Amino acid sequence: MPSIGSPFDTIVAPITGAGPAAVAAVRISGPEAFAIAAKVFSPFDAPEPMRARYGKFYHGDDGLALPFAAGHSYTGDETVELFVHGSPVSVRLLIEGCLAAGARLAEPGEFTQRAFLNGRIDLAQAESVAETIAAQSEAHFRRATENLSGALSREIRALREAALTELAHLEASVDFSEEIGEYDLSRAKDMFSQGYGVLGRLLESARGSRILRSGFRVSLAGRPNVGKSSLLNALLRSDRAIVTEIPGTTRDVIREAIEIEGVQVILSDTAGLRDTADAVEEIGISRTGEEIASADLTFYLYDGSIGWTPEDERWCPTESVWRIATKCDLPTFQPTDDRRLSTVTGEGIPEILAELARMLEELTPPILITDRHREHLMAAEGFALEGLTVSCLVTTPDLVSVCLNEYINALGKISGETSGPDMLTEIFSRFCLGK
Ligand code: GDP
Repeated sequence: MPSIGSPFDTIVAPITGAGPAAVAAVRISGPEAFAIAAKVFSPFDAPEPMRARYGKFYHGDDGLALPFAAGHSYTGDETVELFVHGSPVSVRLLIEGCLAAGARLAEPGEFTQRAFLNGRIDLAQAESVAETIAAQSEAHFRRATENLSGALSREIRALREAALTELAHLEASVDFSEEIGEYDLSRAKDMFSQGYGVLGRLLESARGSRILRSGFRVSLAGRPNVGKSSLLNALLRSDRAIVTEIPGTTRDVIREAIEIEGVQVILSDTAGLRDTADAVEEIGISRTGEEIASADLTFYLYDGSIGWTPEDERWCPTESVWRIATKCDLPTFQPTDDRRLSTVTGEGIPEILAELARMLEELTPPILITDRHREHLMAAEGFALEGLTVSCLVTTPDLVSVCLNEYINALGKISGETSGPDMLTEIFSRFCLGK
């Protein structure tokens, strides 16, 4: 990706999806936006900001042009959004017209990068634009839009400002020790201690954020014929997996997603666990092991009409597992304290889903954290701890000042105050075209 964000060129890209649709939108942004719009659309004389105008495009289509004045647009630059019929051909011809009129095709993420460079949003907010677009579930979408309005940025800014205040006090007391006296190290200690607490809390959101982003993984495991595929079908309310009385039918992992409490839950039906001489089934069983290891939770199913067996004892994972007795509709069902269900009558399934919903609610993070944030939050947390230790142990402010600077720097990388061009290129290149 070339270095972008030059305030001197005007960029253009479609801002709606690629397929045919009723309407498609194209954005032109930069100092020549109005002039270029006037070359592809008419009438565009004396455009009034934020007032859409109906007219004709020179490539033959008709539609709307919506101008935004500099300082009042998504990017912060002069912008025109053009709405044509959602034909990919119309969009292509319009873009070609804009390029011929002097615009340059925007790089992925370039509109948002300009918004960042123009100070309209900070880095954490810019990243949540990508998160909002990528959100697959309602809970993910909600958290992403909260960050868009600055939930994470506010927390980080408050910590950074508190640290900058201490740095200013500390430096002033070094330069003007006679006038204002020595710096009170307990101030830094309190500030680091508070920051350490806040960062720890934000980091706790990291696991929940991963779940929001990629879904909560539940593997359905157990010996053959206990009812794993039947449960998957019941949860999906469709016949996705093959249900038979023949053991060993599910040989590969089947994954399907459902949404519970707004969180995407990825269910995987796995090969039944047993010793087998069948090479294909054995591969399936080893995949089951991998699936259990990477799942957030395993439903370990066993046939409740047979009861818990030594094989179950052997195969059942020891962590993050719910033991579930199946076929509780059968008269031979044996009494148990474990969770129970029947896919024939539906008994027990709502209770299990409700319990899962409660678990997901607890896991839903108050703030959405990306892997990049996590890395810098961990670094900042490390510097906060170091600063806390140093300000407890030393009497000279020099070392505290070093810790303060590192801490401030790490926090700035989250919101973008201390980000280098490489980091920006890395972040914005992950965007899709037209954002
Ligand atoms: P899997 O091998 O663990 O995936 O088990 P299946 O879902 O293929 O089910 C194995 C057999 O048990 C099939 O004949 C199902 O109809 C039957 N089965 C599954 N769940 C229940 C249940 O809750 N009650 C009864 N009575 N039969 C069930």
